[in-house]
Amino acid sequence: MPAYLFPVAGVLLGLIIGSFLATLILRWPEGRSVITGRSSCDHCGHQLRARELIPVGSFLLQSGKCRQCGSKIASDHVAIEIAAALIGGLALFAAPDVQGVTGAVYGWLLLTLAALDVKHHWLPDRLTVILALSGLLASLLMVAPTFLDRLTGGLAGYASLAILAAAYKFVRGRDGLGGGDPKMLGAIGCWLGWQALPLVILGASLVGILVAISWRLRGENVTRESMLPLGSLMAVAAFPIWLYQTANVGLY
Ligand SMILES: [Zn+2]
Repeated sequence: MPAYLFPVAGVLLGLIIGSFLATLILRWPEGRSVITGRSSCDHCGHQLRARELIPVGSFLLQSGKCRQCGSKIASDHVAIEIAAALIGGLALFAAPDVQGVTGAVYGWLLLTLAALDVKHHWLPDRLTVILALSGLLASLLMVAPTFLDRLTGGLAGYASLAILAAAYKFVRGRDGLGGGDPKMLGAIGCWLGWQALPLVILGASLVGILVAISWRLRGENVTRESMLPLGSLMAVAAFPIWLYQTANVGLY
């Protein structure tokens, strides 16, 4: 397979996986099954047929409206599909090999966690554990960083935010961080290694500032409460850092 086909395959795979993830993000918080139950319109219950289930394509063909009742389809769904396609394409562009595939999996997990955190302020333990374990396992494929750097990253990432959260609570008498945030940084550490942890926090702060500025420019009020949760900011920062790391380090 010629190298340029890998990113293309990543985009196509990303579209399919993104469609699944978008359904998961919608249904999981409601306690609904992702596997069973056909997809249907949220407004009229019209069951979607095969040609209405094409990731992104159906949305464009139907100009974002239900074929049956004409009500608008939630654009979140298509946004998740596009993001997943971008992640797959970029990961396999940065590394057209097994490392790129692991990077795509990493990105798709981050995307799911970020979306759940933004919409529901919820970082499911099950998902952060999968992110952490898959990161440790990826080192077995001889993909940088080493297992020890990843394990240290996991422990240091978790401990640093857990200590910070405890200190904040001691001083201010209330929670300053979400309960899932230390686990999230630990799981990211299991992918990027301990060396990248300060960069993740820095990146998350930058993303947070950019989001706040864009809200201000749109005339929205930015308060403490309206800020995006830290977990989602770390997730958004953590994928570009992987891309950067991969382009510069590669296999060890
Ligand atoms: Zn409908």
